[in-house]
Amino acid sequence: MRIVVLGAGVIGATTAYALAADGHDVVVLDRQPAAGLETSFANGGLVTPATSDSWAAPGTPAKILKWLGKDDAPMLLRLSAVPGMLRWGLSFLANCRPAPWRANTRATLALALDSLAELRRIVALEQLSYDRNPPGLLKIFRSKGSMESALRAAALYEELGVRVERLDAGTAVAREPALAPIAGRLSGAVFYPDDESGDAFKFTQAIAAVAAARGAQFRYGQTIHRLAIEGERITAVETGGGPVKGDLFVLALGSYSPRLARTIGLSLPIYPAKGYSITVDTPGWNGAPRIPVADDELKAAVTPLGERLRVAGTVEFAGYDTSLDARRGRMLEDNLAAILPDHPKGPVRHWSGLRPLTPGGRPIVARLGPRNLLVNAGHGPLGWTLAAGSARRVAELAENYRDRGQDSRRAREGR
Ligand SMILES: Cc1cc2nc3c(=O)[nH]c(=O)nc-3n(C[C@H](O)[C@H](O)[C@H](O)COP(=O)(O)OP(=O)(O)OC[C@H]3O[C@@H](n4cnc5c(N)ncnc54)[C@H](O)[C@@H]3O)c2cc1C
Repeated sequence: MRIVVLGAGVIGATTAYALAADGHDVVVLDRQPAAGLETSFANGGLVTPATSDSWAAPGTPAKILKWLGKDDAPMLLRLSAVPGMLRWGLSFLANCRPAPWRANTRATLALALDSLAELRRIVALEQLSYDRNPPGLLKIFRSKGSMESALRAAALYEELGVRVERLDAGTAVAREPALAPIAGRLSGAVFYPDDESGDAFKFTQAIAAVAAARGAQFRYGQTIHRLAIEGERITAVETGGGPVKGDLFVLALGSYSPRLARTIGLSLPIYPAKGYSITVDTPGWNGAPRIPVADDELKAAVTPLGERLRVAGTVEFAGYDTSLDARRGRMLEDNLAAILPDHPKGPVRHWSGLRPLTPGGRPIVARLGPRNLLVNAGHGPLGWTLAAGSARRVAELAENYRDRGQDSRRAREGR
């Protein structure tokens, strides 16, 4: 069966690997010259089941209102974006109620845990290297109040099988000595020993390479314009380089998935939630952290990546605009200085990306619309975290599709 995967971000590349490993004939299309060059390029680098709680949470609407129009807010809604996101926004608000929040968080966490196990299996099997850190994520707190509310989320994680260690400030600094300069400002920390981290872009490139070694064809520089459909089936993807035919199609275009889906009348509830990161070099710095540190108050995480530090954070609802706002970039520089005041000073590389966010935070991994379309999109702030598990689910859906296809062929042929 020939399967055409649309998109070579972390989701498309990991999906291509899973499908090629199952023996399918796989073609991957992407407009960029290589894998992982859009939202998967410079993200926070966390594989973090312990951050599965949906952004659509009971306290979020009040925060968004409080921060409205404030350029330095961690979560910023640009008023100009509102008309284009009304339907999505109402659904987001509906998901902020306690019951949907718990259900969304549970579902995302279950997928994240499956995904973590699958990622570890693939990394060991294929010997992938991507500046992977020792396991663990340290979430630090600067006030008693914020620690207490985070402990309530931690309790839900624990209930669902995630290991959680509550630490006082001294133990947190012993766990990550790079925090010594700010020890006096910490009220405590929570350590999640099973989270992982590394460079998501290097991972994407590495998994694309092993997928290619298993026979997947990656065709870059191919802009996808529309899907050609006959009856209930997609027959081809129309690209700048001509039509690409296949038996089954996997839509993995991240934030751009709804745009293509619209060409066949399919509506996908995915909205781009812009985020920023900065990357600084730290060659030879002995004081560098060994594991990522997420600062609850600053809503930012610092992740070591080889001889670099990545700081990622901030959310902005501003449509498909990826331009860099200097003020929001500076916020991340200030955050880095507030977490690791002694970090080596040097050039800072700024980046922004569009998280493909669904109202409840759960990705869409399902067969939708035409009979031969699988969707693997909408992974929001957790694309790398959920990639391997989502790819496995797509591979299972492809397997079922093949079985059903063979059954109906046999029925038609009277066998
Ligand atoms: C600041 C920030 C920090 C983040 N931190 C983390 C983190 O720590 N951990 C985590 O798990 N996740 C994190 N994320 C989220 C994660 O990066 C995304 O969920 C993930 O990258 C989405 O992957 P994707 O493959 O769906 O999309 P993308 O990586 O955007 O891939 C989509 C691909 O489709 C291609 N494409 C789009 N349209 C077309 C077209 N018309 N024709 C041809 N090709 C097309 C693009 O070129 C692209 O390669 C973060 C995101 C941001 C912005």
